[in-house]
Amino acid sequence: MRSRRWIFPLLATCLAMLLLAGLAASSRAAAPYAGADPPAVYRVYFANAAGLQQLAAALDVWAVNHAEGYLTAPLTPEQAERLQATHRLEAAPLPGPLPGPALAAQGAAGIPGFACYRTVEETADTLAALAATYPQLAQLKTIGVSWEKQTPGGPAGYDLDVLVLTNRARPGPKFRFFLMGAIHARELATAETALRFAESLLAGYGVDADATWLLDYGELHLLPIANPDGRKRAEAGILWRKNTNRSDAACIWSPDFDGVDLNRNSSFQWNSCLGCSSGEVCDQTYRGRAPASEPETQALESYLRALFADARPPEPDAAATETTAGLLLSLHSYGEYVLYPWGWTSSPAPNAAALQTLGRKLGYYTRYNACQIGAPGCFYQTDGSIEDWVYGELGIPGYTIEMGNWFFEPCATYEAGLAGATLAALRYAFKAAQAPYQSPGGPEIVAVTPATITLAAGAPLTVTAQADDTRSYGGVYGSDPAQPIQAARAGLDFFPRQAPRNGWAMRAADGRFDQPQEVLSLKIETACWSAGRHLLYLQAQDRSGQWGVPSAALVEVIDAAQFSLQFTSLPSIPRPGQPATYTISITNQSPVTDSYTLAGEPTTWQFDLPAQPIGPVAPGATISVTFTATVPRLEAPPADQARIVVTSTTQPGKCLDAGLMMPEPSLRRFFPFLSLLPPLAPPSDPPTG
Ligand SMILES: [Zn+2]
Repeated sequence: MRSRRWIFPLLATCLAMLLLAGLAASSRAAAPYAGADPPAVYRVYFANAAGLQQLAAALDVWAVNHAEGYLTAPLTPEQAERLQATHRLEAAPLPGPLPGPALAAQGAAGIPGFACYRTVEETADTLAALAATYPQLAQLKTIGVSWEKQTPGGPAGYDLDVLVLTNRARPGPKFRFFLMGAIHARELATAETALRFAESLLAGYGVDADATWLLDYGELHLLPIANPDGRKRAEAGILWRKNTNRSDAACIWSPDFDGVDLNRNSSFQWNSCLGCSSGEVCDQTYRGRAPASEPETQALESYLRALFADARPPEPDAAATETTAGLLLSLHSYGEYVLYPWGWTSSPAPNAAALQTLGRKLGYYTRYNACQIGAPGCFYQTDGSIEDWVYGELGIPGYTIEMGNWFFEPCATYEAGLAGATLAALRYAFKAAQAPYQSPGGPEIVAVTPATITLAAGAPLTVTAQADDTRSYGGVYGSDPAQPIQAARAGLDFFPRQAPRNGWAMRAADGRFDQPQEVLSLKIETACWSAGRHLLYLQAQDRSGQWGVPSAALVEVIDAAQFSLQFTSLPSIPRPGQPATYTISITNQSPVTDSYTLAGEPTTWQFDLPAQPIGPVAPGATISVTFTATVPRLEAPPADQARIVVTSTTQPGKCLDAGLMMPEPSLRRFFPFLSLLPPLAPPSDPPTG
């Protein structure tokens, strides 16, 4: 009985596959995708997930409507005739415009008829110009070449250009966000959106607080056009998807169907599931003759391997480490989806819950459905995608955003909302790249007011913001429940994942943390703040205990103390009861001779300071000061920060402070035993003035 029950479905599947294989190999009219000769588009109805999967393997599926049970695809007359016998078909309109001769005449710059999208050449020029304009923030790298460039005898082809954005003056390690577009050539809006994201960060550096810290602590690696050869064909108004490989991916029926689908060619689970990619060269989802057979795929995989440490054991069921940093996002069109691994199986990925949570954050900004690509009722299964590869091989979450409603999205709808919503999602994604499996589970900080402020040192600073735990949206696939805000904190100039050294707890404006959205307020003294630009980071926590991604305000401090402080010798983390010796240097940056007084905080610590005032110090000169500080053996409650405050005697009220090493809070509970422990190493990022 058991075997018999299996035979029939298997037989049916094989028959269907044969039928569809015949479909794929049928002769097609020349250039049915050219702009002058738009393809006939149909709705093809499917009965179930298996039926959809069979169709997806053989057809150029443009969109899937699970609710009504049909897919949208262009069909040749022969394909339509064959499918008519087994499927319900309905003629459908072309979802949007193709560039025709009339459209092409309109614009001088950009893609003909689509002036809002820069061409392959204009994109390369923009990347080079950005690297030249922002040498401290942007660097151009060539990570490989396209198939045409690698292959002699045809068009010249292209380099694969990656623009790396980060503030190079600040050393790492930094978290990394890899953003790519146009792996499918005809998806025009994707490359432009990736470019605009880079431009918004560069223009915002030093002006926009979030752009500033993202480039200080993070790196954006941007590959706007992953498939430049194919993209060049698409710019001529052809609905080209694959690369242009015409040696071992030459379609015998028509050169219009040459090439390899680069998002089915990756080496993880390549050709691993039935109907998840095609072995027919002429098909739009042709996977290539071997895993990573194409130069574009090889370049991408080797660059990503160098970029991200492996965070996931090789077993299929093994989860990536929770604290992993790094994110890959590949922009596609169209269909209005946020998609995440796995694609090659309908089973959930080991990090499924966290992948879903971040997917729904991206869904919030785009208002798209968010789901696991291979899950029943989401999209359809795919194998050999770069999103599965980066998650499967390296444990880095890989996301797809399917932008908009047509491959050649009209500029009017692109500019009216699609560009802005996608850029907002990318901004969140970059923030989340520092802890993509964790921080999306926490609330966001929005409406930071003031976003930028200039103040004199010593003036009070009042900041308000909103903590928001409601920003989760997966469309018909559900959203994460909002939880009440539990706490909020602010920190001055500290990296958001470190414990706040100069930190403050923020209050709920209504006096109580009990809602998923809370207005926060904070009033801070700025007496000892140094001159120049500071970032005030704000972060909130919900009742799950998870802290969300931070947002920041930019504070420009003027009229500050005209000297600087620097530790020249730091002890190991002090042990209670034992004096620790510190040396700091004070450099007089004022035009007059100055001297200084020192005071230690908290007063429960014992400070042995030199005779005061310290000086005189001539303009431009530096003086060294050595002192000791002793943590008390018993201190209740333990101080949460200790610092040395230095005040100028010629500029009344102008001071600077420097934080001192604190024993680990957990160790401090066991003071009586601490003196038995060996000295601890100091943290890697010592506090300075
Ligand atoms: Zn695509």
